[in-house]
Amino acid sequence: MDNKYPLIIGNWKLNGETKKFRQAYVKGLIELFKAPIEKVNIAICPASIYITEFANNLSSLGLNVGSQNVSAFHIGAYTGETSATMLKELGCNLSIIGHSERREIFSENNVDCNHKIKQLHKQKLLPVLCIGESQNERNNNATNDVLSKQLSESLVNINVTAETPLCVAYEPIWAIGSGASASPEIAQQTHLFIRDQLSTLYGSETSKQIKIIYGGSVNKDNAKDLLAQTDIDGLLIGGASLDPSHFNSICKIVNSTFNII
Ligand code: PEP
Repeated sequence: MDNKYPLIIGNWKLNGETKKFRQAYVKGLIELFKAPIEKVNIAICPASIYITEFANNLSSLGLNVGSQNVSAFHIGAYTGETSATMLKELGCNLSIIGHSERREIFSENNVDCNHKIKQLHKQKLLPVLCIGESQNERNNNATNDVLSKQLSESLVNINVTAETPLCVAYEPIWAIGSGASASPEIAQQTHLFIRDQLSTLYGSETSKQIKIIYGGSVNKDNAKDLLAQTDIDGLLIGGASLDPSHFNSICKIVNSTFNII
């Protein structure tokens, strides 16, 4: 992945459980991405057991494969876990961590995220750290406090270098799966706040190297305006990534938006 290009990630969540669906999806991607989209880093994150299947089929198209989670542990008696070493061997380039669904449903916290980032960095995989506020927190003007705490606690003793990169995904919980994306203005304002926080933690130069991507009801109709914002470096896409032609359209929009800039 070339850090100078935007990053688009499809998060499949717990979908794609039939072979028929996956085969049709991969066939669709192979057809659609035949004309390569070279100036965008693109990754799909299926359920972990399908990572090899995807990596084998998609790497020739220049697409990356990521995971939706990683263990906070390296090896040993941790039933049900998948380590960063295993993910790397399966062909992963990145891993989503701290998604709001993992925080809410599986009680993951910032300390867990911190351990997971460390495991990913040991394998030189890109952590995509998800942060975001609830509707209640936004209504109570607590957004900046929530984001600042998520960042500072998750990033304790984490070095960000070219070898150990970082991506932050701003995903307001109220926008995920709701059909109501954050407006480009709200997203930009919040991304700028995140950039400032990262600048305080890592310095201004490094903060510019950290991709801050937006997620929450992104589709082909709102992608262009979101991407046109200065501090939005890519997109994390849930529902719309399950349709290969919708996903391909968004990637093409990103490509042309960045060419214009
Ligand atoms: C997500 O879950 O990461 C996400 C952004 O979902 P959606 O695009 O469906 O809102």
